[in-house]
Amino acid sequence: MSDAPALRAPTGTHDVLGPESARWEGLIATFAQFAYRYGFSLVLTPMFEDVGVFNRGIGEHSDVATKEMYVFEDRGGRRYALRPEGTASVVRAFVQHQPVTPWKAWYVTPAFRYERPQAGRYRQHHQLGVEALGTDDPALDVEVITLAWRFFQALGLRRVRLVINSMGHEECRGRFVAALSAHLAANASRLCDEHREGWRLNPLRLLDCKRDECVAVTAEGPQLPDYLCDDCRAHFARVTEGLAALGVPSTRDPRLVRGFDYYTRTTFEFVADALDGAQNAIGGGGRYDGLAEQLGGPAMSGIGFASGVERLLLALTAEGETTPLVRRTLDVFVVDTTGHDVATTMLDDLRGAGLAADRAYDGRSMKAQMRVADRSGARLAVLVGPREEVSGQVTIRDLRSEEVAPQHVVARHDLVATLTRLLTK
Ligand code: AMP
Repeated sequence: MSDAPALRAPTGTHDVLGPESARWEGLIATFAQFAYRYGFSLVLTPMFEDVGVFNRGIGEHSDVATKEMYVFEDRGGRRYALRPEGTASVVRAFVQHQPVTPWKAWYVTPAFRYERPQAGRYRQHHQLGVEALGTDDPALDVEVITLAWRFFQALGLRRVRLVINSMGHEECRGRFVAALSAHLAANASRLCDEHREGWRLNPLRLLDCKRDECVAVTAEGPQLPDYLCDDCRAHFARVTEGLAALGVPSTRDPRLVRGFDYYTRTTFEFVADALDGAQNAIGGGGRYDGLAEQLGGPAMSGIGFASGVERLLLALTAEGETTPLVRRTLDVFVVDTTGHDVATTMLDDLRGAGLAADRAYDGRSMKAQMRVADRSGARLAVLVGPREEVSGQVTIRDLRSEEVAPQHVVARHDLVATLTRLLTK
């Protein structure tokens, strides 16, 4: 052992090892299946971008951009940021490649935010999401929200609520922000310590502030729904009616504005009641009809949604998840005591036939190898020793059976067929 101190993962980040990683695989595979079902294809974009992608996208005065983004200069003096969320990068890719619209893309990605780490809040978390660009048809809003809802149901989550709002398009939003600013200016002395001076930078953020003082002032002030134009009102009605027609329950929260500046019209959030208040948002999203233009592209409507993998897994645990989404266990463990490594060719055959198979190494004793086989979680063990090698036979032993060493002796050339039959029993 060296004297060097053991290095650890950075604060607020996590390693995920098996068997826990099987839950991640199940979650991601289920989301991928849903995304394909709804016509989305996978998009991959770089983990870091020109800092302008996020400053222009999520807003340079947003909390994420000012306090949480990991910004760095590379060796060539360029300013980059690690992705704090998925949407801005995907829309940047849309602007760059101008794919045929409607363009529907899904992703799974780490996201980086310098937050105060606690359960459900990390400095690196992971998001599953979709983005759809090319139309402001409310049918697309309904589709994206329904995808998320059905995905949560398929995971087995039951205590999830959908809250929804409309922020209106740029003009409605502008009129509301002007009215809100006037109200805040008149009542600034009553705001919380952080916002008494700071509200001017981003007045909408005051609706997110959970402190009593800010809640009271904003509750008395102008309300977003009163500032929507007829078109935005009609758009929102079609979204909520569409959801109701599909049996997706939603409640309106007129204070829901979410943390990024790019949102227009529909915004929504999914809340898991099984989780603690401050970290109970398991997903959210909305329309961003001006974002492509802000990133230097054409005027193009879009809507998206993202969900935190860690929070979904916490919510599943809190709801008492009973069946894992995927099982990742070995089918077969090969115990080779021939003394000249028959296991290598045998495993190649078994794996070639689609079985999950493993072995012990270093020519250990039968007893030692059987111990590893038992620990491996494999259903069956295949035993091959000098005697079997001469007779062209192998012994199959059921590692999970209650009976004392139930076993079958089969010809080597019948091995794959016999294993497959036993595994499907
Ligand atoms: P946002 O991009 O802020 O809308 O976040 C999308 C989803 O990611 C949220 O609903 C959470 O489920 C999850 N999330 C956001 N920030 C964190 C974080 N710091 N740690 C863990 N999960 C997060």
